[in-house]
Amino acid sequence: MRTKQQALFIIFGGTGDLAKRKLYPALFELYRKGILSEHFAVIGTARRPWSDVHYQTVVQNSVSADDQQQANEFSKHFYYQSHNVNDTEHYVTLKKLAERLDQKFQIGGNRLFYLAMSPRFFGTIAGHLKSQKIVTADGYNRMIVEKPFGRDFKSANELNRAIGQYFAEKDVFRIDHYLGKEMVQNIFALRFGNNIFRSLWNSRYIDNIQITLSEALGVEERAGYYETAGALRDMVQNHILQIVSLLTMNMPASYSETDIRREKICALKALKIYQPQEVKQNFVRAQYVAANGLKGYRQEDQIDPKSQTETFVAGKIFVENENFSNVPIYIRTGKRLQTKATRIDIIFKAVPGNIFTTQQLADNILTIKVEPEGEISLQVNTKKVGQGYQLQQQQLNLFPADKLQLIPEAYEKLLADALSGDATNFTHWEEVAYSWKFVDAVRHAWDQQRAALATYSCGSMGPKQADQLLSADGRHWIFN
Ligand code: NAP
Repeated sequence: MRTKQQALFIIFGGTGDLAKRKLYPALFELYRKGILSEHFAVIGTARRPWSDVHYQTVVQNSVSADDQQQANEFSKHFYYQSHNVNDTEHYVTLKKLAERLDQKFQIGGNRLFYLAMSPRFFGTIAGHLKSQKIVTADGYNRMIVEKPFGRDFKSANELNRAIGQYFAEKDVFRIDHYLGKEMVQNIFALRFGNNIFRSLWNSRYIDNIQITLSEALGVEERAGYYETAGALRDMVQNHILQIVSLLTMNMPASYSETDIRREKICALKALKIYQPQEVKQNFVRAQYVAANGLKGYRQEDQIDPKSQTETFVAGKIFVENENFSNVPIYIRTGKRLQTKATRIDIIFKAVPGNIFTTQQLADNILTIKVEPEGEISLQVNTKKVGQGYQLQQQQLNLFPADKLQLIPEAYEKLLADALSGDATNFTHWEEVAYSWKFVDAVRHAWDQQRAALATYSCGSMGPKQADQLLSADGRHWIFN
């Protein structure tokens, strides 16, 4: 059960897309559930010269409420300050407003600084919050930062130092919203709450793991950023490697932030770092081309017509720890694929010695559909009802479909965690660091070798090279 919280949020980038689409609806859900009630306030800041009233209307319009009265009351907790983060003067007025609201809503000095804007501003904001004494002495002061956290290890390290001068690691909450997804959080319960999975969760019984994060959309309005990032930095360094760490970490000593993070860090540290030649064998990069009435990547607005940025990546990776060193983990992610889905398939090894000589046994596969459906199922072989002895595959569904509508949105869960000071589902700096070291080796090999960029049609499941990555090992993508 969540308890009532009191806090002042200061959202940098309060007029932005993320704030409107994710943060205000998430805060409203926390308000509806009573986790936030009378003792909270939000200051939204950005350069636009909005009034409080206009800001409150924006907030109201961004939440979907059956109860307009409630949405109206909620919006009365929101205040706006026009603020250029580079301008020291603005922090003086921000401090005064923060103190006034702390008094008015009797918040007791708890502050959450949400940096929903470009990371290039993080250092300057953190420095000003300290130097202008916007951090309080009598409550907690937590900083929530959005991805991307750097574009390689070096820049991430610089960014971390810039923030770390002013905020201790325990107060920095790095968002990876996949960690707030119900089905991703379920990995932990499945693995460590069930002896049948716990005892089988190793290279003796698992043949391979497959992770797909496919998007149906193209680059949309993020073209400027995407062109400089690409799929490897945008999706693999964070979301995919976070899922890998949850799937391959050793069992922590307890269900606690410190112990869980320690084991996740160890798993990421154990990622096999490839030599350039190995990258060529184990990674595929590709770009979408026009098909099915959709534009190719190079024809999108703001994209270089000769762009070499990958919009798809597939790879075979290894976590070289005691339980997983020989288990290939196949990953893939891309834009403009056939469907939007996040899915994990854990394929168990075949029964040694099939006694049903005339019939093939289906693999046991544990499938976690993170989205859009939200489903966990286990494929097993059973006997067909009736005369004779025929086998059939069956899916045991392990997640009740009628609970789907109860799943909170990831940002709602993560904001509730940050309010209660629980950083379990946020990424620790060392997790970020090891992830970048792995990704940098791949990126470095691509840059060095001017790695060939494959192509795939919009609406497909990626280039044929991604299928060959598995077929070369005698396997195939379970999700197709
Ligand atoms: P956005 O819509 O471009 O918003 C950027 C915000 O920063 C705006 O509120 C802008 O407001 C403000 N801003 C820019 N320069 C400023 C300055 N010098 N001083 C004060 N405010 C300034 O971007 P976004 O999509 O919300 O993304 C925000 C961050 O979240 C980015 O780091 C992004 O990578 C990350 N993120 C976003 C999403 C998403 O779904 N949108 C998902 C994951 C991560 P003014 O123009 O009024 O100043």
